[in-house]
Amino acid sequence: MLPDDLLAPYAAHASGGGGRRFAETPHASRSEFQRDRDRIIHSSAFRRLEYKTQVFLNHEGDLFRTRLTHSLEVAQIGRSLARNLRLNEDLVEAISLAHDLGHTPFGHVGQDVLNECMQEHGGFEHNLQSLRVVDELEEHYGAYDGLNLMFETREGILKHCSLNNARLLGPVAQRFIDRTQPSLEAQLTNLADEIAYNSHDIDDGLRSGLITIAQLEQVEFFARLWRDVQQHFPGLSGRRAIYETLRRLITALADDLIVTSSRLLADAAPKSIDEVRAAPPLIRFSDPMRKDATELKRFLRENLYRHYKVNRMRVKASRIVRELYGAFMADPVLLPPDYQDKSGDVSKQARKIADYIAGMTDRYAIREHRRLFSLEEL
Ligand code: MG
Repeated sequence: MLPDDLLAPYAAHASGGGGRRFAETPHASRSEFQRDRDRIIHSSAFRRLEYKTQVFLNHEGDLFRTRLTHSLEVAQIGRSLARNLRLNEDLVEAISLAHDLGHTPFGHVGQDVLNECMQEHGGFEHNLQSLRVVDELEEHYGAYDGLNLMFETREGILKHCSLNNARLLGPVAQRFIDRTQPSLEAQLTNLADEIAYNSHDIDDGLRSGLITIAQLEQVEFFARLWRDVQQHFPGLSGRRAIYETLRRLITALADDLIVTSSRLLADAAPKSIDEVRAAPPLIRFSDPMRKDATELKRFLRENLYRHYKVNRMRVKASRIVRELYGAFMADPVLLPPDYQDKSGDVSKQARKIADYIAGMTDRYAIREHRRLFSLEEL
């Protein structure tokens, strides 16, 4: 970790930061953002990431990424980038490890279904849910709900937000109303996330057999890296050739981000995090790299995320989430007592159901669905 005085002036400094919702005395041996990272790692939502889908269902294979390994990869890439730019590594690590805490079981489809179900009750969005987990749902402290994280960590977790929700959320979402930027650490984590999933989804996609090298060679960016590997190691194939290509892919994206962002930072020369907030985004890929990354994302969307075998999983998962929600709404007495709302307010009950379902791992949701609907399991 870089001590505060070695950080660039435009980095987020733990001292003089946005503080916590409930004031706490500083810790003797850990910075504020180290404390946040530790709280996140010790949370129960973090442990559940191990059994939540990234693209492939958790039980489809032991080697596929889960939300947990994805979050670790984001943190690792993010920390290297942060150190190069003299940004706050601890903050990047905390945001990375927390960024997916609010994901439902079964990946994005779980969110989409819950959002549909919750239309009359404020909707459902996984970014907002991640913030809700660390602000409200974790039960660790005697004095308050949630983990009482630093403003900068919470702001980094809230990657997107509608104007309506921003008005409800207060200071942490004010930037969506003011149209200003979050810290450089938050901007960086966002792109570290993209670097991580672009590369590991290719790896998992190839491993599953749903996409092939021949298809990927139609993507100019991938083809360039693949040719480079073949030049260095003529005839290399299989896992080694894939890993040699993917490590070049991560390096190309990371190096481009460092060079481009360093130049932008040198030109803008922000003297503080406040000047960062008022400036345009300063952590970026170059235009040609943005184009390459976008082409790759389009490929993955068309060929992997919408593959018919992934679609089958998605349709089945959406049915599970929809039926769980429907059953609990129709008969809240089926819920564990903590999730039964006694106020008589339907929207409050719906929110508790969404919290309950969003907190489930893939396998728990499948089991819960079976417990509620299977006549074999009475
Ligand atoms: Mg992510």
